[in-house]
Amino acid sequence: MKLTLYDTMARSKRPFNPTNPDRVTLYVCGPTVYNYAHIGNFRPVVVFDLLFRLLRRLYGPDAVIYAANVTDVDDKINRKAAEEGVEIGVVADRFLAAYNADAKALGALSPTFQPRVTETMDAIVAMIGDLVDRGAAYAAEGHVLFDTQAFPDYGKLSGRPLDDMIAGARVDVAPYKRHPADFVLWKPSKPDEPLWDSPWGQGRPGWHIECTAMIEKILGLPIDIHGGGIDLVFPHHENELAQGVCAGHGHGEYAGVWMHNGFLNMGEEKMSKSVGNVALAHDLLKSHPGEALRWALLSGHYRQPLEWTGSVLDQARSALDRLYRVLDDANRILADKVVREEDDLGPVGEALLDDLNSPGAFAALFQLADALRAALMSKDRDAALDARDCLLTGGRLMGFLEADPQAWFQMGADDGFKARVEALLADRAAARAAKDWAAADRIRDELAALNVEVMDAASGASWRIKEQA
Ligand code: AMP
Ligand code: ZN
Repeated sequence: MKLTLYDTMARSKRPFNPTNPDRVTLYVCGPTVYNYAHIGNFRPVVVFDLLFRLLRRLYGPDAVIYAANVTDVDDKINRKAAEEGVEIGVVADRFLAAYNADAKALGALSPTFQPRVTETMDAIVAMIGDLVDRGAAYAAEGHVLFDTQAFPDYGKLSGRPLDDMIAGARVDVAPYKRHPADFVLWKPSKPDEPLWDSPWGQGRPGWHIECTAMIEKILGLPIDIHGGGIDLVFPHHENELAQGVCAGHGHGEYAGVWMHNGFLNMGEEKMSKSVGNVALAHDLLKSHPGEALRWALLSGHYRQPLEWTGSVLDQARSALDRLYRVLDDANRILADKVVREEDDLGPVGEALLDDLNSPGAFAALFQLADALRAALMSKDRDAALDARDCLLTGGRLMGFLEADPQAWFQMGADDGFKARVEALLADRAAARAAKDWAAADRIRDELAALNVEVMDAASGASWRIKEQA
C-alpha cells in the first residue's frame, strides 16, 4: 500500500508522490515565541512529527528534510521585551527553549531546520524585490503590498471568491491599497520598535512573506508538503502561495500537498490565548508523562476537531498502561529484552499510510498487545518474541513505548517511596528465607496498602504501581 494524504487544495485524499524521493521536503508553520505554548499549539507539532517519522521510515532518515519555522518578530514579542526592558532576542530565546523542551517531552524529533525570521531578513527583502520587479507588488507610503490582481488563482486554496474577501475587507481599508484584498509585504516600524533596512525604507516584514522566504531559502521551491493548523488556510497560506508562485522560483509550483490539522477545542471553543481557555503543555508535563499527552493528541484523526478533556488524558494513560503492562510481563517471562526491528511496516504503519489514521494505528497496537498476551499465556516463546517485536516496532514508529516498562510504572513514585518499597521487599525476602510466613504475609499486606503489586521471578522480585480499578 502507498501513502495517501488529504490535500486541502484538491479537497481529496491523493497518493503522495514526492518530486524527488531522495529529497522529500516538508514545511510546517511554527509558533510565535512570546509565551509558553498551549497544548493546542502542540497538535500540529505532534501530527507533523508523526508524518516526519513515517516519511523517514518510507524514504530513509536522511532523505526527508523538515523545516519548522519560528516567528521571532512580532508585536507581542515587542511588547513583552519592552515590559522587561530587554532585547526581543532575549524573550524569543527563552520561549523557544521552553517550546523545544516541551516538544521533545512530547516525543517530537527535532526538525532538520528551525529557521527564524531575524536570521532570514536578507532573503525576505530579496523576495519582496523579486515580487516588485515582476509587477506582483507595489510600494506605497513606506509599505510594500502584494497586488492580488496579479495572481488570477488568488483564493483557490481556501475556496474564497475574491468578491467575498473584498466585502470582508471593506471596513477600514488602508488608503494606499490598490485593492482591498492586497496584503502587506513590508511596513514601517512604529517608533521604538525593532527595524531592518530595505530599499523601501527601514521597517519590518509582513507575516506571510516570512514563511515563503524561509521555504525558498531553506528548502527551495517547490516543496512536497506544507502543513499547519486549519486556521492558517486563509489568509496565511493563501498569501504564501500567491507570493511563492509570483516570485517565480518554483516555476509556478509552491507545494505539492497542503495538510491542515483540525482544532484542539476546550469547552467547545478553539483553545486559544485570546479566549483564555488554555492548558499549557509546560504545566501538563509536570503531572503527566509526555507519551500520555502525545497519545491524547493523536487519539482523534488529525483533520477532525479534538475535545480536550480530563477523560481524554485518563484514557490515554490507561491505554499506555495496558501496552506497557504486557511488555513488562513479556520482559520478565521471556528474560530477553533485545528488540529486533521489523522490516515491513506492519499493521500500525499500514494504518498510518491511510492519511495518518492514528486511531486505526492505536487499534492495531491493541491487537498486537492481545497477540503478545495470548502467546505468553500459551507459553509459545517464538510467537511471543515476534509479537513483542511487532508491538515495539509499531509503537516506536509513532513515538511511543520508548520507556522501560518498569520505569513507566514507577514513574510518579518519588525516591522516598521507592526506597520504602525496596526496603519492604528486602524484609519480605529475608522473612521468606527464614520461613517466617506470618511476617512475609504482613509485609505483603503492607505493600498492597501502598498500591504496589509484587511480581516474583527466579531472578528476584520486582514491583509496579497497581492498575487503577
Ligand atoms: P500560533 O502560535 O497561534 O500561530 O499557532 C502555531 C500553530 O498552532 C499553527 O499551526 C496553528 O494553526 C496551530 N494552532 C493554534 N491553536 C490551535 C488549536 N487550538 N488547535 C490546533 N492547532 C492550533
Ligand atoms: Zn507560515
